[in-house]
Amino acid sequence: MAGTSKTEKVQLHAPGLEELRGVLQAGLEKNFAEVQVSVVECPDLTKEPFHFPAKGLCGNPRVTDVGGVPYLIPLVKKDKEYDMNTISKELELPGAFILGAAGAASRILGMNAELMPVCLTEAEGRPAVNSSYFSSINPADGQCLQEKYSDKYSGCNFGLLGNLYACEGKPGEVIEVRAKKRTGDLSLVTSLRTTLEGHYPEKSLALGGSFIIQRGKAKIHIMPREFSACPLNTDDEVNNWLKHFEVSAPLICQSVLVSRDPGLDLRVEHTHCFSHHGEGGHYYIDTTPDSVEYLGYFFPAEFVYRIDRPTETHTVGRD
Ligand code: ZN
Repeated sequence: MAGTSKTEKVQLHAPGLEELRGVLQAGLEKNFAEVQVSVVECPDLTKEPFHFPAKGLCGNPRVTDVGGVPYLIPLVKKDKEYDMNTISKELELPGAFILGAAGAASRILGMNAELMPVCLTEAEGRPAVNSSYFSSINPADGQCLQEKYSDKYSGCNFGLLGNLYACEGKPGEVIEVRAKKRTGDLSLVTSLRTTLEGHYPEKSLALGGSFIIQRGKAKIHIMPREFSACPLNTDDEVNNWLKHFEVSAPLICQSVLVSRDPGLDLRVEHTHCFSHHGEGGHYYIDTTPDSVEYLGYFFPAEFVYRIDRPTETHTVGRD
């Protein structure tokens, strides 16, 4: 692992699911016309539309923020590469099921790309199962090109930055979120996060999981194949470098959010989506508030781990 700084670990506030259910129900109602938050048995995530290599989101849940945007901008640090198998050990959970949002390993792909990590890491007597997708800009037409990571490469490496949820991948009870018709300005993820931040102002909570945009469209970005040769110093410069697209449901989105940074220089929310129709990337928000429908499954993490935290930091490019 390219990591040089020592991993930091902070315990999070992880309330019971029934308490969280009520808090999230009340909060989401401020941003969506129809909201139903429930505690349910996690659906089998090996089935459609997920096709994950683990059944559920339960068992020693934790989140991690690896590397960071300061390794991408103002100028890229290409030596920053991480292995999810190593990360799972750093998270004291070897063999973990990992999902979230990350940069692809540019050294291996020979280009920059968005990574949608979905990986059952290696364990004694069992190889890793990498079900990740990655999206790049298709040089033929400038559009989104989504591919299976395992078609290009058998490992579980990623580059520069990653916001990951890790657990044992066991079945069990989770929070189910159903939301339709967005009435506020916040994305589903920001709405969840600010709800927790507002209800627990003195505490840090984190959720990880997966949600489906069942109807509507969403705004995403994909990083260009080439890293920027000139320094990107402002959010405007970053946004001019990124390629933005509007993509269609159904989209399967992997999300990590932290209500309040406990002093670890975290990216407090990060979501990447893939689809079975060739579109995927970094999710911002739906673009069809009147018709959008969300269905998600989340679980509260007990710990956050900060791995290879950049010593020189900034707040540019964290949307
Ligand atoms: Zn991203």
